[in-house]
Amino acid sequence: MAKHSKKSGNLWSTPAAEILRATDETSVADLDCSLTPGFEGTKTDGQALLAERGEVLSALQEKLYANGRSGDLRSILLVLQGMDTAGKGGMVRHVIGMVDPQGVDLASFGVPTQEEKQHHYLWRIRNALPRGGRIGVFDRSHYEDVLVVAVHDLVPRQVWEPRFDEINAFEKELVDGGTHIVKVALFVSPEEQRSRLQERLDRPDKHWKYNPGDVTERGFLPQYRTAYQRVIDRTNTDYAPWHVIQADRKWYARLAVTELLIDALQKLDLDWPKADFDVEVEKQRLADS
Ligand code: ADP
Repeated sequence: MAKHSKKSGNLWSTPAAEILRATDETSVADLDCSLTPGFEGTKTDGQALLAERGEVLSALQEKLYANGRSGDLRSILLVLQGMDTAGKGGMVRHVIGMVDPQGVDLASFGVPTQEEKQHHYLWRIRNALPRGGRIGVFDRSHYEDVLVVAVHDLVPRQVWEPRFDEINAFEKELVDGGTHIVKVALFVSPEEQRSRLQERLDRPDKHWKYNPGDVTERGFLPQYRTAYQRVIDRTNTDYAPWHVIQADRKWYARLAVTELLIDALQKLDLDWPKADFDVEVEKQRLADS
C-alpha cells in the first residue's frame, strides 16, 4: 500500500517557489536530477496533491480570465526550457491541461522558418505573447537563441553574447507591461534521457515522438549544461527569475510547476471583476421576464 508520509497539502517542507528559484550558487553540472527538493511525500502523495492543486490552479486561472475579459491586461507567461525528453510536452498536457484551454495561449518554437529567419530573433516571440487575462506557455522560447545557437555555433559568439542583455531588457519591458514571467528549466539525467528515448523506440505508439537528431544532441549534453549555466547566470533577474527543476521524476516536476503557477497567480491578488450592470435591476428584470 502507498505510504502517506504527511497529510496532503502539508508535504512541501519549503515552498516550491522558494526552493526551486535559481541563485548565484546554482550549479547545473552538480544537479542530482532524481531528487525531489522540498517535497517530502511519495509519488502517490505527489500525484494526489497534483489533482488537488490543479483545482486551485484552475480556479485562479478563471479569475485571471474573468479580469482579462474586463480589460485587465495582466497575464502569466510560463517559459519552459529543457532538452529533448525533459518533459516539456508532458508539462503542457498534465499541468496546463488542468485549466480551461480558452484561457491559455500556447506557442512552441522550433527551428526558425524561412519567414522567421528574415526577422530579429525576438520577432516570433513578440508575436506569440499572451493576451491580457491569459496564461501564455512557451514550449521552448527566445532562450533557444542563446542555447542551441551557442552549442552549435549557429551564429558567432559576438552575435549571441549581447543577447543576454537584450533578453533581460525585453523581459523587463514585458513585466512592466503586466506580464508575470515564470521561467522554468527542466533537467533530466543522461540515464533518464536514455531510458525515455529507449521507450520511444520500443513502443510503436511513441515512434512519432522519436527524432534521430535527439541522439545526436545527447552527444552535446556537457555543452548544453554549460550553455544553460550561462543562461541562468546571465538572465536570472529579480523581475524574471529562473526556476531549476530536477525532472527525472515526472510527477515531481509537474507538481512543482503547478505550485509555481499557483504562486504567480496568487501574487496578482485577483478579485472577481465588478459587474458593469446593476445586479439588482437585472434580478428584477429576470424575475419579470
Ligand atoms: P520538439 O523536438 O521540442 O518536439 P521541434 O521538433 O518542433 O520540437 O523543434 C525543436 C527543435 O528546434 C530543437 O532541436 C530546438 O533546439 C530547435 N530550435 C528552436 N529554436 C531554435 C532556434 N532559434 N534556432 C535553431 N534551432 C532552434
